[in-house]
Amino acid sequence: MVHEIRVLAGLGALILCAIFGVAQNSSTVSANQTWNDLAAGNHRFVLGKTAAHDFPAQRKALTKTQHPRVAVLSCSDSRVPPELVFDTGLGELFVIRSAGEDDDPLASGSLEYAVEHLGSSMIVVMGHQSCGAVTAACSGAKAESVNLDAVVGPIVSSCAKIAPTRLESLDLAVRDHVHRVAQEVLAKSEILKKAFDEGKLTIIEAYYSLDTGEVTKLR
Ligand SMILES: [Zn+2]
Repeated sequence: MVHEIRVLAGLGALILCAIFGVAQNSSTVSANQTWNDLAAGNHRFVLGKTAAHDFPAQRKALTKTQHPRVAVLSCSDSRVPPELVFDTGLGELFVIRSAGEDDDPLASGSLEYAVEHLGSSMIVVMGHQSCGAVTAACSGAKAESVNLDAVVGPIVSSCAKIAPTRLESLDLAVRDHVHRVAQEVLAKSEILKKAFDEGKLTIIEAYYSLDTGEVTKLR
């Protein structure tokens, strides 16, 4: 009887892990497994066969704490919401978004918080097809305000990857920008660099296709 209860309890924990992705210690889950889970969620999203999320139950289970395995730094674009794109429930993704997914101090600090205090073991930097911020940066037009300049300014160097007359090759700049941000995420943060060097943190560079809904792992 006691054995049965233990087995049932273990099973229950496993089911909860599968549903919420929060009960497992992030260090016990490999980076490959974490990415595979994201990819599986994205596949469901692509097919339009997303999981049935029990949000009331998830809310209840997460009132005291959160252990999102993954932090996502992505664009604010309304067509690319990470929780939907990866078909995740509450408590699974710690998301930082701004137009053009720049790693400014607020973004870097938020990522540090996720990794250092919430136990996130993966950062996904995600750019996307037809990004307006990248388009604006590569158009050569002067930003209309200091604030807009702060959005496009960090992207400009990636525009060297494309010919000014061939904006259809914008994807090259999008991907280059993702790569630069992913590198700078570590370069700008001792906390994240330390976690990375100790094997506690994986950085993934990703690209979202508006056409297909697919997220491609670039690196
Ligand atoms: Zn964008």
